Amino acid sequence: MTPRTYFLETFGCQMNVLDSELVDGQLRDMGLRPAATPEQADVVLFNTCSVRQHAEDKVMSRLGRLKRQKTRRPETVIGVIGCMAERQKEDLFVHVPHLDLICGPGEIHRLPALIERVWQHHDRVVALAGSQSRRTDVLQRGLIEDDLEALDLSRRPGQGGGGLQAYVRVQRGCDKFCTYCIVPLTRGPERSRPPDHVVTEARRLADSGFREITLLGQTVNSYLYGEDGRTVRFAQLLERVHDIESLDRIRFVTSFPADWDEDIFRVMRDCPRICPYLHIPAQSGSDRILKAMKRGYTVAEYLDLMDLARKYCPDIALAGDMIVGFCGETEDDFRATVELVRRVQYKSLFVFKYSPRPGTAADRNREDDVPYDVKVRRNNELLRVQSEVSLRHRRSLIGSTVQVLVEGFSKSARKLRSMEPSAAGSTQGSESSPRTAPTPPPATARQLVGRTPHDLIAVFDGDPSLIGAIAAVQVESASALTLFGRVQSVVSPSRSH
Ligand code: SF4
Repeated sequence: MTPRTYFLETFGCQMNVLDSELVDGQLRDMGLRPAATPEQADVVLFNTCSVRQHAEDKVMSRLGRLKRQKTRRPETVIGVIGCMAERQKEDLFVHVPHLDLICGPGEIHRLPALIERVWQHHDRVVALAGSQSRRTDVLQRGLIEDDLEALDLSRRPGQGGGGLQAYVRVQRGCDKFCTYCIVPLTRGPERSRPPDHVVTEARRLADSGFREITLLGQTVNSYLYGEDGRTVRFAQLLERVHDIESLDRIRFVTSFPADWDEDIFRVMRDCPRICPYLHIPAQSGSDRILKAMKRGYTVAEYLDLMDLARKYCPDIALAGDMIVGFCGETEDDFRATVELVRRVQYKSLFVFKYSPRPGTAADRNREDDVPYDVKVRRNNELLRVQSEVSLRHRRSLIGSTVQVLVEGFSKSARKLRSMEPSAAGSTQGSESSPRTAPTPPPATARQLVGRTPHDLIAVFDGDPSLIGAIAAVQVESASALTLFGRVQSVVSPSRSH
């Protein structure tokens, strides 16, 4: 009998990428094989994000396209998992009558049983950890946590990833309740994993060849775990992970400014394999807006923290997020945000147009009063400012040597390599170079891509045997997003060659 197949598409943040890796493992354990398209699959799952309306709209459009398939092949199981499932709950069945399965992010360990139930009983199934934990007692909630923990620990290294970089969860949920954010409602309260479990998982990944791990948490620096009458904070957890000597690089995302602990900077300064990179969203440069967002810090406090970061780690790369067009944001508030971006000199910045999320405090209590065209203008202006900052920063590295963990062929190279041999010469430019690039060198079919410890993307020509290695690359030119260079030497060869 031909094995059944699955198609899994992931939307949203790194937390969802990690959850999808775990789901992928469960589906393979069920004997299912991956399908290239949803049309070829017996099980189609969308791991969804609710942070912005746009992300939900995309999923609804994907689901709409599957209606004909469900009529033609009713045995296909169609499911929505993740934050959108938790937010919209059974309402999704009303909007998508051909949907079979709804599963929140806290219940993904139950997916194999849920899928079997649909197959055997032709039932619609719903598993929502959020609603369950609200109405069950602490003991039952503990059992759910144990199941999720077991799922993380059961991860087969290498599965769903490239074998170089992996995510390790240190924390679930969030209790900050920033007024615009849906996450506390979809992922529940903040719970930290036992430090031993985090270290065991990281060590297992390192032993099987992973060179870099990223510790994940919604507010990763808020990590706190009670152990033997003592509390383990994030700084101590980082040190314990750094003790795994076979790991070349350790990163962590996302940091929450109001919970910062100076000890983390000490550990970053003293532990050489912790990358000098900090993703620490400010969200706005206006105190008035920060207060309305309930972020718990002022602009001055945030700037002091950035100065402290540079005092401990002078070359630290800072990355941020900004929301433009939040309720009541005036032109002056926006100017203050532009000013903050110029002042901090982020390595990279993610800019989002505010979109109200049902159920959040901002949606209940504030008017979404910034017109859409104003949001678009502010969004574009902030991106322009950041692009100037990024270009200046990348160009300042020309002539220096950076260490690059080589991930594989660049997108341009992959495109060229998929062409006929006669056409696979060189082409002008690279998709990773924006229009602001000075004169990007032509991409070739040998172009490799990787990242520096500062999370900068670097491309250069090289032998495929470099994939998986750490190479010293001299930077010869730069665009706002990419460093272009030449390999000087191999610092540490690939572990798979
Ligand atoms: S800290 Fe704020 S923005 Fe981040 S996940 Fe928690 S509520 Fe959302």
